[in-house]
Amino acid sequence: MAWRGCCRLELQLRRSFGRNQAWGRRGIVSCIDPSAGLTEEQKEFQRVAFDFAAKEMAPHMAEWDEKEIFPVETLRKASQLGFGGIYVRPDVGGSGLSRLDTSVIFEALSTGCVSTTAYISIHNMCAWMIDTFGSEEQRHKFCPSLCSMEKLASYCLTEPGSGSDAASLLTSAKRKGDTYVLNGSKAFISGGGDTDVYVVMCRTGGLGPKGISCLVLEKGIPGLSFGKKERKMGWNSQPTRAVIFEDCAVPVANRLGEEGQGFNIAMKGLNGGRINIASCSLGAAHACVLLARDHLNVRKQFGEFLASSQYLQFRLAEMATRLVAARLMVRNAARALQENREDAVALCSMAKLFATDECFEICNQALQMYGGYGYLKDYTVQQFVRDIRVHQILEGTNEVMRMIVARSLLQA
Ligand SMILES: Cc1cc2nc3c(=O)[nH]c(=O)nc-3n(C[C@H](O)[C@H](O)[C@H](O)COP(=O)(O)OP(=O)(O)OC[C@H]3O[C@@H](n4cnc5c(N)ncnc54)[C@H](O)[C@@H]3O)c2cc1C
Repeated sequence: MAWRGCCRLELQLRRSFGRNQAWGRRGIVSCIDPSAGLTEEQKEFQRVAFDFAAKEMAPHMAEWDEKEIFPVETLRKASQLGFGGIYVRPDVGGSGLSRLDTSVIFEALSTGCVSTTAYISIHNMCAWMIDTFGSEEQRHKFCPSLCSMEKLASYCLTEPGSGSDAASLLTSAKRKGDTYVLNGSKAFISGGGDTDVYVVMCRTGGLGPKGISCLVLEKGIPGLSFGKKERKMGWNSQPTRAVIFEDCAVPVANRLGEEGQGFNIAMKGLNGGRINIASCSLGAAHACVLLARDHLNVRKQFGEFLASSQYLQFRLAEMATRLVAARLMVRNAARALQENREDAVALCSMAKLFATDECFEICNQALQMYGGYGYLKDYTVQQFVRDIRVHQILEGTNEVMRMIVARSLLQA
């Protein structure tokens, strides 16, 4: 009987999603309330994002994962709420919101599907890079269709031989008149093959970061092809493929910024990207704290509800504490980035390191509290665990985050 009770609980959660109840509003959980400290306007963005997560994403997240569906129509619906270019300027179709607003939105959306939200965050990062470093012509050419998500974008930095040491990339762009001839390949590209716009870091000069430039390619250009779709433990609602360039002639007019500025552009994109991906981990952890709490309240062992075990109460309290600490770190870094503060790069790295590690532990602990049921695909908690594991690896591994933080301390 007990397991049936658990199934009913899951169904109730799914129905409550359907009834437009947000994770943040179910039950009395004020100490982890994600709207605490936000302005009325931010609470409104958050409500819209929670509602979208509940209605448009949560009911499908298991199916998207199982069948590896990239939910393009759902992405376009999200863009109608302004989520396609959240921190892009309004004159090219963006929402013009702050980094903190963006974090609040991604945290709320990811309660409905981490993998889909994480793709939206990468798309937003690319749109921001074009908006910020592109000429007026480039901004007006690319940003409107990216903000409406009529076109989708991919960020192409990693190569088979250059991951953590991204500045050693080898994809070469040799200038011939008004074009660059691009040769090389990128690995692990989110959205690769299904997206339309590729923001590519490539070598136009000598070794090291100063020899790197940033080009924008459109799907369909001769010489651009894709590897097989990677099979992954999570992030299954978005495809990941290698992106291959064979004598790809890219107009010089598609270069963002100056020659040699590409690595700087890539890293600036990633500062925000790290806050965004950390925010996706926060949403998963928030959902998992609530799932764990509800499970402890319905599952009986040794003649008592699990919630009456002091050990499990303490673990739940630790999960909530870690969640709130991680959220504060992420929001603090978002403010620093918004204000363009000198410590922003290190704070974004600290927030990504801390939040993605802590939130993974929270989700994993929630799975433990579910016992064997947590390991079954009938229960949502395992998908949160699988989906956020990669946040400790990408957009700079958490070891690379430690390098950045240590460097900033040692150079101070
Ligand atoms: C699902 C998925 C989606 C991705 N999407 C994108 C994308 O859209 N665009 C993109 O450009 N990239 C993407 N990536 C790539 C991702 O950013 C890289 O996997 C990541 O940067 C790590 O590089 P690597 O895999 O080559 O690992 P490596 O660099 O080979 O590192 C292996 C391990 O060694 C550690 N390590 C390396 N050097 C040191 C050192 N000096 N000291 C201590 N530890 C060290 C690393 O932290 C890591 O734990 C994606 C990856 C995945 C899995």
